[in-house]
Amino acid sequence: MSVIDNGKVAFVTYTGTFPESGEVFDTNVGGQPLAFLVGYRNMIEGFEREMMGATEGESRSFTLTPERAYGYRDEAMIQEIPRAQFPAGQPIEPGMVMAAYSDQGPVQFTIDSVNDEIVRVDLNHLMAGKTLHFEVTVNSVRDADEEELLHGHVHGPGGVDHSQKADDCDDSGCGCC
Ligand SMILES: [Zn+2]
Repeated sequence: MSVIDNGKVAFVTYTGTFPESGEVFDTNVGGQPLAFLVGYRNMIEGFEREMMGATEGESRSFTLTPERAYGYRDEAMIQEIPRAQFPAGQPIEPGMVMAAYSDQGPVQFTIDSVNDEIVRVDLNHLMAGKTLHFEVTVNSVRDADEEELLHGHVHGPGGVDHSQKADDCDDSGCGCC
């Protein structure tokens, strides 16, 4: 029987909650299984570690503190941007999540505060500083093919579809875009 290990493609169903409130922040229950290539940083490291050796049909639950999830918040990641750099008619409110394109690719940020001149944006990952709890069930595990290992991601259902380059490209350096 296949078990989750480096170089395998794992399909899982998961629910992620914040342990303090019990609030669900992400789940794919009732939808398509999540596919990831194990050992290629498709997932946060703590998640992979906890799932290593799991067999098909096995369920595991675990809690990741920030250092094993998305890291701690860094106050240096809060930056001030002139209001004029945002489109004039665009509403900007504290707590809004926005996306922009940088030299390093797309970045998501949260509006911290705003006045007529300055927008304070928080570039920390939305999950930075959070402890995350996961309930995960392994749907199936298969060997990765050579091309998947070369690209560092899964192809086919639940993975990257290179026939739809622009939409599905995850900018992982596989040369598809
Ligand atoms: Zn690929």
